[in-house]
Amino acid sequence: RAAKALVGVRDELKLSLAAVTVLNDRYLLRDEQGRATESTGELMDRVAVHVAATEDTHRAGSSAQWAERFSALLRGLEFLPNSPTLMNAGTRIGFLSGCVVLPLDDSLRSIFTTLGHAAEIHQAGGGTGYAFSHLRPAGDFVAGTGGMSSGPMSFLRLFDTASDVVSMAGRRRGANMAVLDVSHPDVYEFATAKAGARDELSHFNLSVGVTDAFLRAVERGATHRLVNPRTHKTVARVSAADLFGAICEAAHACGDPGLLFLDAINRANPLPHRGRIEATNPCGEVPLLPHESCNLGSINLARMCAHGTVDWDRLTAVTTEAVRFLDDVIDVNVYPFGELADASHASRKVGLGMMGLAELLAALGIPYDSDEAVRLAGRIAAHIQRAAHAASAELAVERGPFPAFADSRFAASQPIRNAQLTSVAPTGTISLIAGTTAGIEPMFAIAYTRSVLGRHLLEVNPCFDRLARDQGFYTDSLATEIAQKGGVRAYPGVPAAVRAAFPTALEIAPEWHLRIQAAVQRHVDAAVSKTVNLPATATVDDVRAIYLAAWKAKVKGVTVYRYGSREGQVLTFAADR
Ligand code: UDP
Repeated sequence: RAAKALVGVRDELKLSLAAVTVLNDRYLLRDEQGRATESTGELMDRVAVHVAATEDTHRAGSSAQWAERFSALLRGLEFLPNSPTLMNAGTRIGFLSGCVVLPLDDSLRSIFTTLGHAAEIHQAGGGTGYAFSHLRPAGDFVAGTGGMSSGPMSFLRLFDTASDVVSMAGRRRGANMAVLDVSHPDVYEFATAKAGARDELSHFNLSVGVTDAFLRAVERGATHRLVNPRTHKTVARVSAADLFGAICEAAHACGDPGLLFLDAINRANPLPHRGRIEATNPCGEVPLLPHESCNLGSINLARMCAHGTVDWDRLTAVTTEAVRFLDDVIDVNVYPFGELADASHASRKVGLGMMGLAELLAALGIPYDSDEAVRLAGRIAAHIQRAAHAASAELAVERGPFPAFADSRFAASQPIRNAQLTSVAPTGTISLIAGTTAGIEPMFAIAYTRSVLGRHLLEVNPCFDRLARDQGFYTDSLATEIAQKGGVRAYPGVPAAVRAAFPTALEIAPEWHLRIQAAVQRHVDAAVSKTVNLPATATVDDVRAIYLAAWKAKVKGVTVYRYGSREGQVLTFAADR
């Protein structure tokens, strides 16, 4: 019966087998026996009805109509909100945000309060980010006890252990981001923490918060000061290039740490009077002030294509409705504690992004690693940003601007409902549900095996599959053969134009990864989640070059991943197993 129900769900929304598996295992509501009590279509309706309920507070009786429009948007897989919204809307948990940044001041009370708050957020499926930069370094004086501080790294391990315990009960791992300022005396230990031991800090992404001044010092071969955040005294002078070298070596070894470009982030801070931004959410796409949350949602670009071109009008219409949806989410969200509600209501930040860029490019026959792709990616981001700001301005007329508006850098311009509108999330799971490529990432592979909760599923990129069948070169053994290596670029059995339009992440030179990220970032309010993939043979110098190029390209952060450098990689090619 269960199997039959799944087939029904698949047909209803034309979902892939992987999508149905994930939805069934983690997203659909269940009864006490663990049986799913809703179909995927009903899940979409539950979310739409719950989110639209707030429309009645603005205009009595309008919620039913909006529920219908939101539901069509979700059922059509044209737009999906982040996972916590899909999982929790209309349920007892009720927390819908993808991510939160929490404060960490230099006191035990602050640290343990935040640890407790983080547990609640993880339980609800949200991710948390923190700057550890204000904690006094290891070995520093503790007045209350006359003893010595154990330093940010010890607290970081504590947070990691707590995440481990909480995630066992949840449907989703509580992801974390730890940021440490490059001037913190413990920055070496931080930067190299994950490079040594394999399972160290497995719930954390690490980013070193770097400034323009530090990177200029790296280039000039100058010294760099390490400063105790408690006393503001310089405790050491080190070679900036050596420190940068240690960071790049660690990133080469394991992918961590990434860099956060704090000056670029703060140049775009919509609320500079409320403080300097020091941290982002776990995957880096949303820089936030402490206690702010962000509701993410992504437009499926693969569905914004008609007659061999981008359907710009549809993209405008979907963006407008998506902004309204995300603004409504802020109001129906159940925040686990008051500070979160206050900060989130004050700035009303949302993060509308995109997924399926690579699929769209492939469908249009444009290679991801081409000037044309870079131009189109930038144009799409600009179009979404423009439409999102227009939609938010319209909502401000109807509902008023965000409460901190007078305090923001928009104060002199047209009122706007949200201090931040766009962001590009990784869309790890929602892109799987929508059956398209993740965020603005290229295809990982044309055919591959994905391990979903312990099962190995063979997947062929649906766009490639369709095209191959249409053009008559699909054979059953082709997919299995491609899955050995992943890509088709060097595969003689595939027509040349198709080979060009279907590059995989590892076939694309790192510079192109960065160029696409930079082109999109230019037209995104918050930040962009993007990994620069490197081949297994890449060197530490390659990492250094990419990290410096990223700074010059004015992106807000950068992450590299060298193939095979982490154990338990989710996606692998059969030939490498
Ligand atoms: N996130 C998390 N745990 C996860 C995946 C994601 O806490 O296992 C958070 C994290 O803050 C990330 C954000 O959700 O930055 C968005 O991630 P993604 O777009 O991959 O989530 P999706 O909505 O697709 O599940």
